[in-house]
Amino acid sequence: QFHMIKYEDLKWDESLGQGSFSRIFRGTKMDIRDGEKRETEVLLKELDGLHKNCWESFFEAASLMSQISHRHLLLVYGVSVFGAKNIMVQEFVKYGALDLYLKRGRSVSVSWKLDVAKQLASALNFLEEKNIVHGNICAKNLLLAREGDPSQGSSPFIKLSDPGINVAFLDKDVILDRIPWVAPEVLEAPDNLTLECDKWSFGATLWEIFNNGNAPLRGWDLDRKRQFYETFQQLPPSQWTELADLISQCMDYQAGNFGSVELCRYDPLGDNTGELVAVKKLQPNKQ
Ligand code: ATP
Ligand code: MG
Repeated sequence: QFHMIKYEDLKWDESLGQGSFSRIFRGTKMDIRDGEKRETEVLLKELDGLHKNCWESFFEAASLMSQISHRHLLLVYGVSVFGAKNIMVQEFVKYGALDLYLKRGRSVSVSWKLDVAKQLASALNFLEEKNIVHGNICAKNLLLAREGDPSQGSSPFIKLSDPGINVAFLDKDVILDRIPWVAPEVLEAPDNLTLECDKWSFGATLWEIFNNGNAPLRGWDLDRKRQFYETFQQLPPSQWTELADLISQCMDYQAGNFGSVELCRYDPLGDNTGELVAVKKLQPNKQ
């Protein structure tokens, strides 16, 4: 279901660093179109040797992205396999990841951020209509194709990147570290991603964008992150009520049936002498 690209047709340029499960390079793809040689600037994402057992999931992400087409979804040209190397060949997006861009201190206006939010929403709306779950929405996976110039009235332009390896294949610690982007119900059932999970991640991503790319709960250790969900906490609300409302509608613990808190009597002796305790109860009716 995806285009295989010959390894010989790829030229590797400088390294752009390390992704979560990949090494990332700028490069060129050579092909022949209408009898003419053409070169396309590409981004080469090579799956880490450490995660080579996840190659199927990695290629599934590539396949997903190459089957759908939308102006705010990253173009994936295909995959290339050479010996033990598994490579995703994708569109090179000039200004890179949005979180880094914002953190570099570029001052952008609120309307700039709103444009980005609307573009992401339109991509997610498109996916929802097709009943496709992305599964890894965050500002790092939004790539900035055009900066936009507020003084000229031109907007930024973003593209949502591939989701990478499916959470179902990730270690528990990696999933916990994705709090608060990952929907709480995913901690309980990582193999059951739903559109609701993307909605949750959209909320966390909005928060991130409006906080200039600063990761929510940055620096928290995994235990503290887990407790954040277990005690049904919310991110600090934005000063704009409408934005705060939107984010809390997305990051809604009820929506994903992430359990509820009930009072129970902890009564090991069975004689009603035990104390009342609050317990988190998982709901059995998750679809
Ligand atoms: P994950 O699956 O968790 O998203 P990843 O392997 O996709 O991991 P990222 O951390 O998302 O890796 O990306 C690493 C960096 O590579 C980003 O910060 C971004 O700057 C750059 N990058 C990724 N994709 C592109 C692209 N298509 N064009 C330009 N730069 C990119
Ligand atoms: Mg990514």
